[in-house]
Amino acid sequence: MRIDLHTHSNASDGTDTPAELVRKAAADGLDVVALTDHDTTSGWAEAVEALPDGLSLVRGMEMSCVGLGEDGWPVPVHLLAYLFDPADRGFAEERERLRAERVERLRAMAERMREDGLPIDPDAVLDSAGASAGRPHLARALVEAGVVPDVGSAFTRLLAPSGPYYVDKADTPLRRAVEMIASAGGVSVLAHTRARKRGRLLAVDDIRELAELGLGGLEVDHPDHAEPDREVLAGLAAELGLLTTGSSDYHGANKTIRLGEFTTDPAQFEELVGKATGVPVIVR
Ligand SMILES: [Zn+2]
Ligand SMILES: [Zn+2]
Repeated sequence: MRIDLHTHSNASDGTDTPAELVRKAAADGLDVVALTDHDTTSGWAEAVEALPDGLSLVRGMEMSCVGLGEDGWPVPVHLLAYLFDPADRGFAEERERLRAERVERLRAMAERMREDGLPIDPDAVLDSAGASAGRPHLARALVEAGVVPDVGSAFTRLLAPSGPYYVDKADTPLRRAVEMIASAGGVSVLAHTRARKRGRLLAVDDIRELAELGLGGLEVDHPDHAEPDREVLAGLAAELGLLTTGSSDYHGANKTIRLGEFTTDPAQFEELVGKATGVPVIVR
């Protein structure tokens, strides 16, 4: 059984449509794939519709949250949410709040640029952004307008948190997110929580508290995790009774990682499915 529990379609920042993604997953020999776009379930229906024979689909989402860093300051954290009921009222309202907030934030950054005389049209940026608006959309607009040579320099020069156009995000507090996912019948798994190259790390004490609030598991095998950090996470999962996952965090052509490059142990997957009461795994 080959199980990949973390992938992105173009419903967020991947490049494959949800239908292309599930077809590729089947062609690449996966048995189970989870679709986990950032802060949206908008790709679910298309993935279900296109699901090929022999492939099982786990409907999920990767939620942008804020936790407590090792240094005591707030730190952005990604939380995977699996098999939750999308109609659960509290959780649905929070997703809608986040969606609206992302659009407002992107508009505010684009407006500041236009006020400074940069050739950026906020309406055009928002039109290009779709369901999960974010800085990458603005970065691409800056490249197209010839303001910067590439997306990387857009981030380092203009879109960094210390940069002139950055606007803070109002992401969900991690503890609240864990509780909301649990009450929507879902299972929460902390994504790439020791990915040092992404920045500061979540405090281990915070993970212990989350386990008490209903956190389901830790993503251990991930392309951005070094071997010693995988061991730390596996040890922590064993100590706290959390399940462990392994996943590619596939983004299509936006990253070099392949579908199924890291996978989840079937017994761990079975445990995850056993904990969920929101929506079932779809089996074809
Ligand atoms: Zn992530
Ligand atoms: Zn991801």
